[in-house]
Amino acid sequence: MSRRPLVAGNWKMCKTRAEAVAWCTDLTAGLADAEGVDLAVCPPATALAEVAAALAGSGVGVWGQNVHQAESGAFTGEISTGMLVEAGASGALLGHSERRALFNEHDDQLAEKVVACLAAGLDPVLCIGELEYARDAGSTEQILDEQLRRGLAQAAPEQVARVTVAYEPVWAIGTGRTATPAMAQEAHAFIRGVLRDFAGDAADGIRILYGGSVKPENAAELTAQPDVDGALVGGASLAAASLLAIAAATRP
Ligand code: PEP
Repeated sequence: MSRRPLVAGNWKMCKTRAEAVAWCTDLTAGLADAEGVDLAVCPPATALAEVAAALAGSGVGVWGQNVHQAESGAFTGEISTGMLVEAGASGALLGHSERRALFNEHDDQLAEKVVACLAAGLDPVLCIGELEYARDAGSTEQILDEQLRRGLAQAAPEQVARVTVAYEPVWAIGTGRTATPAMAQEAHAFIRGVLRDFAGDAADGIRILYGGSVKPENAAELTAQPDVDGALVGGASLAAASLLAIAAATRP
């Protein structure tokens, strides 16, 4: 099954609203470069509504960087699925390694977030990946298996088909180090095998993004791998031109 590539930018805690809107102007001016590739951006929550308005009609997805599983309540500092939808988001990152490491997010919570997103009509993008010591110890597949199975534990098979997975080896995020294309392909093929246990043949339609120091210079060789369906990009997404160059390099 052929999967349309997807390239998403995660700005993390960067960009004011004005900077975000300027980025959108640059991106929409260059969208022809990304033809054939789906694009999405994850602005900080303060800029979400403005980015969604600036990109309305462009086809570019706007995702939250995180979301809470409850509909509302006493969860200071959190944001609900309904709030994301109201701001114009179409999806949300779940379980980014920075959320796991710095804010103690765990797989059971993520399982609730996956189904909360689906119930609200948001595309869940479940991030998984091993720490360096786990790779060195030969435990990469065990970690990916656990994170994926626990994160998807509450989703019905037809719901799993609506999830996007981002494989982000933690040692490659923001470090300038990337997995080799062979390492990425091996992990992605393994992930697709686990997805098949949940979703059967629909696993062939699920997009698995690679993340970890993706840049215009290395995007083509990574995304040319048969099970690498695009990229989740941090630092190199802060300039629209660079995200567009990654999308152009990803084009089949
Ligand atoms: C990320 O934050 O998801 C990421 C992959 O960051 P970077 O591209 O900067 O490594």
